[in-house]
Amino acid sequence: MSNTSTTKAFGAQSTTAPLEALTIARRTATAHDVEIDILFCGVCHSDLHTVRNDWGGTIYPAVPGHEIVGRVLSVGDHVTKFKAGDLVGVGCLVDSCRTCPSCQQDLEQYCVPGFTGTYNSPDKHLGGQTYGGYSEKVVVDEHFVLRIPENLDAAAVAPVLCAGITTWSPLRHWNVRKGSKVAVVGLGGLGHMAIKLAKALGAEVTLFSRSPEKEKEAQELGADRVIISTDAQQMKSVKAAFDLVIDTVPYVHDVNHYIPTLNINGTIVLVGYLGPLEPMLNTVPMIMGRKSVAGSVIGGIAETQELLDFCGEHNIVSEIEIIAMQDINTAYERMLKSDVRYRFVIDMQSLKQH
Ligand code: NAP
Ligand code: ZN
Ligand code: ZN
Repeated sequence: MSNTSTTKAFGAQSTTAPLEALTIARRTATAHDVEIDILFCGVCHSDLHTVRNDWGGTIYPAVPGHEIVGRVLSVGDHVTKFKAGDLVGVGCLVDSCRTCPSCQQDLEQYCVPGFTGTYNSPDKHLGGQTYGGYSEKVVVDEHFVLRIPENLDAAAVAPVLCAGITTWSPLRHWNVRKGSKVAVVGLGGLGHMAIKLAKALGAEVTLFSRSPEKEKEAQELGADRVIISTDAQQMKSVKAAFDLVIDTVPYVHDVNHYIPTLNINGTIVLVGYLGPLEPMLNTVPMIMGRKSVAGSVIGGIAETQELLDFCGEHNIVSEIEIIAMQDINTAYERMLKSDVRYRFVIDMQSLKQH
């Protein structure tokens, strides 16, 4: 087709297949589009869930990646926000209906008919599914393209586009500020950004982790305290301690364990695991303290830009390990073992040269 170009990418052909080189079509930039040369792409645990069809609904081939940083190659005639050469980002959203009450409030992530995800969503332009950032380039409507502060490292800022905004949005929604008592469950990609961002907002921050070896690093990231979640004594020591707990654990786990650590009116917001909880939630500790269990997904475009600007001002980026595209299958295995400090970021030069 003349309105597409062939683009190198990396993806999986089935639930059990490793990721491998393949080619995909990208649309020619329309009047409102920005064509982006991808420099770096972060590796989110959601990429792994999608490739392995953990949530159901994966369409193959699956090309993941929604922590994209690159330079603008070209822009369509009606684009006003960007020009060739700009450093830009694309997170988890590439489109939404733009007219529903959520979209009108800059909450595209809660678009009523459903947002278009950067990968594994129906592609409104080309048909088939959207393909993510494990690729040389991407074409995105300017409304869903973010400005990246030039003072930040282009590789290390990539995870802000998912891990960052997913934790920032609840921190802002639950009004975390100086003196707030915040806890984070799980020290991975999301968890380490949650610690940095909560700290930068002035909160007192505690980490719940299964991994005693992460204690010192968590403190270096800004945690005031680390509680080993398998240690009953340590858990008792934080009874009624927190206003907000952000739970980033990717797999089913006992959320009841953390409810007693909430103060009156406290909220535990689940951002990690998607699916039915086991064991079931006991309402008694919630009722006896007016406590809430909530969920939250990523953040809107305006809020993501707010976060990127905040990171620019406060010099906040992710802790990363740069990998080549060809190392992605090993990186997934390491992520499953929590063996990453704290986000893999793919240098897309490795794909372009291959
Ligand atoms: P990650 O880097 O793998 O980190 C997850 C952390 O959770 C691990 O480092 C580990 O920390 C802890 N953990 C892992 N397995 C566990 C288990 N079975 N039981 C208890 N703790 C466990 O993952 P991530 O990229 O941060 O993503 C976390 C989850 O958020 C994923 O499920 C991802 O799909 C989801 N996500 C949601 C959104 C959203 O919008 N809601 C956005 C992005 C990602 P410790 O070693 O410290 O215990
Ligand atoms: Zn993600
Ligand atoms: Zn909408």
